Amino acid sequence: MLWVGTSWKMNGTLGFARDYATRLAKALADGAPSGVQPFIIPPATALTVVRDCLGPDSPVLLGVQNAHWEDAGAWTGEISVPQAAEAGAALVEIGHSERREFFGETDATVNLKVRSTLRHGLRPILCVGESAAVFEAGDSVEHVLGQVAAALADVADPSRVVIAYEPIWAIGEHGREARPADIAPVFAALADEWGDRVTAILYGGSVNPGNAVDTLRVPGVDGLFVGRAAWTIDGYLGLLDIA
Ligand code: PGA
Repeated sequence: MLWVGTSWKMNGTLGFARDYATRLAKALADGAPSGVQPFIIPPATALTVVRDCLGPDSPVLLGVQNAHWEDAGAWTGEISVPQAAEAGAALVEIGHSERREFFGETDATVNLKVRSTLRHGLRPILCVGESAAVFEAGDSVEHVLGQVAAALADVADPSRVVIAYEPIWAIGEHGREARPADIAPVFAALADEWGDRVTAILYGGSVNPGNAVDTLRVPGVDGLFVGRAAWTIDGYLGLLDIA
């Protein structure tokens, strides 16, 4: 199964969400393309709107971009995994590099969030990836394997985990597109160590219609986690078709 999904990050009004999800529901009225698992991670404010527009039989899995490890309490500004689940989330994105860089996420908090997500029966999308400095030093494999090991410490059964390898230097408008040769060693190592223990291992970072096919050909890549190129419904549908 190829997983192809997007996080909208901090983008999207409710009107945008309604339009995007309604068009997605129409496009997938006969089901997702064969062998493809679509997923959408809108801002939490739009989750129920997207859920309602997609309808109860949609093949699209929904998620949140972050959730706290406690189930409830005095944690201003946070949402919990049970709250996310109630609003329609099946997935919890954890440890995106923007959260690690700007919101103080560490391997330890990522681990707590992964364990809470699994405890509640949702799937973590565990984001890992190295900086440009680590990449240039040739230490990507060691860095990424270390992040995954820390995130999955004390996880007895990681089979519901989706790993997203997203090199920081390839993410966002200032990122540069990764070439297959740049990411192949990390995928080889991830596949070797985790390939038959987790659900899927995705690639993310400047994915677009021009590089998606080559990226999906890299051995060990089970799908694409897309930002900007899927922030229009036409962009997302195009990538689903390519998959
Ligand atoms: P991008 O974002 O596709 O816009 O580079 C990727 C990501 O942050 O997952």
